[in-house]
Amino acid sequence: MSKFWSPLTASLEPYVPGEQPKDKAYIKLNTNENPYPPSPKAIAAMTAAINEDLRLYPDPNSEVLVQALAKKHGLAPQQVFVGNGSDEILAFAFASFFDPGKPVLFPDITYSFYKVYAKFYGITPKLIPLDEQFNINVDHYTGEHGGIVIPNPNAPTAIPLPLDDVRRLVESNPEQVVLIDEAYVDFGAESAAGLVHQYPNLLVVQTLSKSRSLAGLRVGFAFGSEELIEGLNRTKNSFNSYTLDRVALAGSVAAIEDHHYFAATTAKVVATRERVRARLQELGFTVTPSKANFVFISHPVIPAKRLFEVLREQGVLVRYFASPRIDNFLRVSIGTDEEMDSFLAAIEHNLAHPT
Ligand code: PMP
Repeated sequence: MSKFWSPLTASLEPYVPGEQPKDKAYIKLNTNENPYPPSPKAIAAMTAAINEDLRLYPDPNSEVLVQALAKKHGLAPQQVFVGNGSDEILAFAFASFFDPGKPVLFPDITYSFYKVYAKFYGITPKLIPLDEQFNINVDHYTGEHGGIVIPNPNAPTAIPLPLDDVRRLVESNPEQVVLIDEAYVDFGAESAAGLVHQYPNLLVVQTLSKSRSLAGLRVGFAFGSEELIEGLNRTKNSFNSYTLDRVALAGSVAAIEDHHYFAATTAKVVATRERVRARLQELGFTVTPSKANFVFISHPVIPAKRLFEVLREQGVLVRYFASPRIDNFLRVSIGTDEEMDSFLAAIEHNLAHPT
């Protein structure tokens, strides 16, 4: 606390990201990064951008990336927005579309960043409980409200929402923006990107951080009606008119166009996830039906916090949340087959020798 801080800054409870410790070489399964490197074509394009163009400012409109995304998704460029990671776009969306006078609805168990931004913009969150199995019931998103935010798949549960449910949600709330955060959609869930032609109130947010292995580059994008994209641009241009730097632009376009590499690495992550899920179930774990690059697991005997600690001692980092209802679960990112074998071996060791 400082006397120089505004009441707003003093009241914030900043988002705590997953730890990135440096004390030893960990198997890092705690922040849902992709274990495979980015597309070699993206790396080549970024290297070329460094060698050629950094003397010059980037295009403030990120035209090449907007065009590439519009072409890929069959949209007009006016229906595409790009930003520095999807977190930045979420922040712009909260500022652009939600009214401090009305609550924004999101699941009670979800990406914890939403609460932080609601607070920042003085918006009251209204948390809608997940059901017993951690599913989202879209019929519960009703009543007086100023907008809806739902990740598909949800995090940290990894459970997807069927596209029909997204459609129902958007249709039954035509006066409010429905934001679908598709950070993990490429690992087997159904994207709502194709619906933005139909619904002026639907905003779909995606990222290069997960399925394109570019978390370090900070690139996200949104698809929506022209009026929603214009709203995001108004907010963005009030802060800073440069969106992405030259390296990020070059790398993103190349990554998006390298469909073959994307399909191959995503398929590998999904295959590893299914193998790990089956083995964990054999070992007695409850594993939610994941369509993401992570699994959400609970053991009937070993408490999650204990397992988190012993795995850490054995050099495996996973994510533990000390929150109601999920404090006996761990979120485990899907790494390479080798990393997951080490994780499973550590789990098996702990089951055989409980401490
Ligand atoms: N949405 C969800 C649900 C996430 O888990 C994350 C990553 N932690 C993000 C958005 C943000 O991703 P990025 O800013 O890297 O695009």
